[in-house]
Amino acid sequence: MNMENDILILQEILNRSKRIVFFGGAGVSTGSGIPDFRSDNGLYTGEFEGLSPETILSSSFFYLQPETFFRFYRKYMLHPEAEPNIVHKALFQLEQQDRLRGIVTQNVDGLHRKAGNIRVYELHGNVNENTCMECNASYKMDTILQTEGIPRCECGGVIKPNVVLYGEPLEKYVCIGARREITNADTLIVAGTSLSVEPAVSFVEDFRGKNLVIINQEPTSADEKATLLIRADVVSVFEKLNI
Ligand SMILES: [Zn+2]
Repeated sequence: MNMENDILILQEILNRSKRIVFFGGAGVSTGSGIPDFRSDNGLYTGEFEGLSPETILSSSFFYLQPETFFRFYRKYMLHPEAEPNIVHKALFQLEQQDRLRGIVTQNVDGLHRKAGNIRVYELHGNVNENTCMECNASYKMDTILQTEGIPRCECGGVIKPNVVLYGEPLEKYVCIGARREITNADTLIVAGTSLSVEPAVSFVEDFRGKNLVIINQEPTSADEKATLLIRADVVSVFEKLNI
């Protein structure tokens, strides 16, 4: 394993690619100080009666115990102070250079949009968008932060975050757009995700291009298909790139 050499190869691939798609997971956001709730369940569950984040962030739990849901949600899912890191910024540059076709992300923090990217496919939604379940009025993250208990609209309806909860389907138009970009890409970079959450793996299977680059600290389910596999933190890799 030669990290320096891998970085050089990645740099070459990026220099030659015209239709890059970036598929990212929690490892992209940890560089902005947002913890990965899947990698350390213990961190979160103590004060939530031993319930896992997956249980609390499920559709059925939202309707059954909204008070607990929002207590967890405000504490662990909202990071208004988080700023884009070097990965987000580099991807913005690539989009400006017209070489990045799209970002497909499992993250809900909205940091790719905050960095300025336009073509972002947020598979699991975005905490900055919230909708009244009665009248469809839109609310920003601030409303959720500034309220206590169950956030309510002026009309009295419950405000629900536009985040895909466990047990809910992904938005169809987001999936169609993401798959179209991946199918047409010449380079697909999968980073900061072990691809363990469905349907992440099936998205990667749509790729028909030349270079499948995987950057992740842990093994992923697509490692054997990778043309370049870098077992490292995605932030530390992007720090060494020239974009
Ligand atoms: Zn309303």
